[in-house]
Amino acid sequence: MPLNILMVASEAVPLAKSGGLGDMVSAYSAALRDSGVETSILMPAYPAALEQIGGGTPVARLSGLPGGDGVLIRAHMPDTGVPVLLLRMDHLFARDGLYRDENGRDYIDNLVRFASLAAAAARIAQGVRGIKRPDVVHAHDWHAGLTPLFMKLAGVKARSVFTIHNLAFQGNYPRAMGGWIGVPPELLVPAPLDDRSIEFYDTLSLMKAGIVHADRVTTVSERYAREILTERFGHRMEGVLHSVASRLSGITNGINTAAWNPATDPLIARSYSVENVAGKHACKRELQRAFGLAREPFAPLVAIGSRLTEQKMADVVADAIPHLLSRDSRVQFAILGQGEAHLEQQMRALAAQWPGRVGVKIGYDETAAHGLHAGADMLLHASRFEPCGLTQLYAMRYGTVPVASRVGGLADTISDYSLDLGRSGAATGFLFERETVDGVIGAMERSLAAFGNPSLWHALQRNAMQRDSSWAVPVARYTKLYTSLTDARPATTRRRKVDAPDTPTFVDERAAMAAG
Ligand code: ADP
Repeated sequence: MPLNILMVASEAVPLAKSGGLGDMVSAYSAALRDSGVETSILMPAYPAALEQIGGGTPVARLSGLPGGDGVLIRAHMPDTGVPVLLLRMDHLFARDGLYRDENGRDYIDNLVRFASLAAAAARIAQGVRGIKRPDVVHAHDWHAGLTPLFMKLAGVKARSVFTIHNLAFQGNYPRAMGGWIGVPPELLVPAPLDDRSIEFYDTLSLMKAGIVHADRVTTVSERYAREILTERFGHRMEGVLHSVASRLSGITNGINTAAWNPATDPLIARSYSVENVAGKHACKRELQRAFGLAREPFAPLVAIGSRLTEQKMADVVADAIPHLLSRDSRVQFAILGQGEAHLEQQMRALAAQWPGRVGVKIGYDETAAHGLHAGADMLLHASRFEPCGLTQLYAMRYGTVPVASRVGGLADTISDYSLDLGRSGAATGFLFERETVDGVIGAMERSLAAFGNPSLWHALQRNAMQRDSSWAVPVARYTKLYTSLTDARPATTRRRKVDAPDTPTFVDERAAMAAG
């Protein structure tokens, strides 16, 4: 029997997306399936998801989940054909938002909503008629965090993997609510770290449940796996993470290289490739038009495309932009994002103050994101912490050179250009250390200087476009992780298999560092 994996997640593109999680779950599942592993996704049946799959087929009724009864609907992802099971519980999921209402307030029953999702996963692992029993259940982020615990409570044979996509969002709720969702009282009290309690600073934590009960824990980049063991990046979970360090590792995300390919992308003005980047000029013209910027073909055009939040340092970036505009009379900014109201307002004010040089679109717009990466010269991607980050990977594939914080996945995926090298070497972008306006300005000035040297710039662009951001290596690593837990193996396919180096755990890396 081929290795069979059930992904459990609250979002998966194109059925539902709020950020990188939705991209990852879908792109990774398709790549894993292509490598010969039977893969399916379990997620909530949001109205937009049901609409996109054209109804689907009800396959099982699940009674007595924490939120009541549910129905599993079988369908396939519209773009990749990956099998998907949608958990239909309309009283919980038939809403416009994934997690929040239209005023940005978290739904008050999120605990019950996502406990139901996790309980459905555990039922499937236990055995549901008409659904193949998975060998490994792979739960993603706090929404699916109760899955490994519920699997244990159900005594299933399947093993569990839990991936942390962003430790800042933990799903912490009043402890007293634990009884409602079926968590035994002994797991809701403060206990020594190795005791598997899901109590966390007087709350019950879905993130902690995933971390302490899964057979393996991963994060979406190698550096983030190390960072979250420290106070600076641990969001108070560093102690818990230390207690599972021997089961913790980092696997850097890939991207959907078919959807994000400048040679075939139907959403951009003109296609181009690393062999012939001429089409990028037309994309730049289009981006300038779309964002109301002056049509200057040689002006350095900087894209910003992310949530406008503190995590993404939008506050610091907004303060840095006027300095950059004053120091370089040609530089332009195209800003696409949405987030905290005061930061959105600050960006709008910049556009009003600098007409023709700053263009801002507030909102979430997938098509505009493609145009942004295709048309810009550089991407400014500041972050206080970044588990992996996908935006910089998209930008690099489109020959848009990233200027980013040296944290997490940004540091793992961008190779910094150092001026004293004088040559591009293998550099693909620019990194900066601090969370300050000066840090941003310093790195931007380095990149603007490089932009003024066309042969150097083209070398950086080429390096960035040639970076392998495919899923080949991460799929091989995850597969190795799964097969360390179960005897099942992937079916042999004709595709070339990639040899995965062992994914080092934090403990291995510490030993390696000590050994020099
Ligand atoms: P995060 O998940 O922390 O928001 P990532 O870089 O991992 O950051 O993923 C963000 C994803 O959301 C990327 O696919 C990015 O292109 C997309 N995105 C973010 N903001 C917008 C926006 N305003 N419009 C379109 N796409 C966006």
